[in-house]
Amino acid sequence: MKYEGSCHCGRIAFEVEGEIADVFDCNCSICRRKAMIMWAVPRAAFQLTTSPDAVSTYTFNTHSIQHSFCAHCGVSVFGQGERPQPMTAVNLRCVPSVDLAALQVTHVDGAKF
Ligand SMILES: [Zn+2]
Repeated sequence: MKYEGSCHCGRIAFEVEGEIADVFDCNCSICRRKAMIMWAVPRAAFQLTTSPDAVSTYTFNTHSIQHSFCAHCGVSVFGQGERPQPMTAVNLRCVPSVDLAALQVTHVDGAKF
């Protein structure tokens, strides 16, 4: 299944392919503030369909995760990490075709990591 998503203004748009599973939210210092619902996919399953120039990134602590957002509308669209393998965590709130209320969401205790 292929899904299309974007930030609010559309400067960042993407396609992601796969069966939605392993959906999580997290209570770490950034996720709790951004209220994202994340779906982790292998990097190859995720593709930007707009220019990478529109993507701003934020890192903190160990700087191992790139938290990507749109500097124009402020929406956090995805995050990327390299461990244990190159992954993209897509914010499913940016995918209009997904029924958020129907998702099985795992609550990750990221505050303790
Ligand atoms: Zn935007």
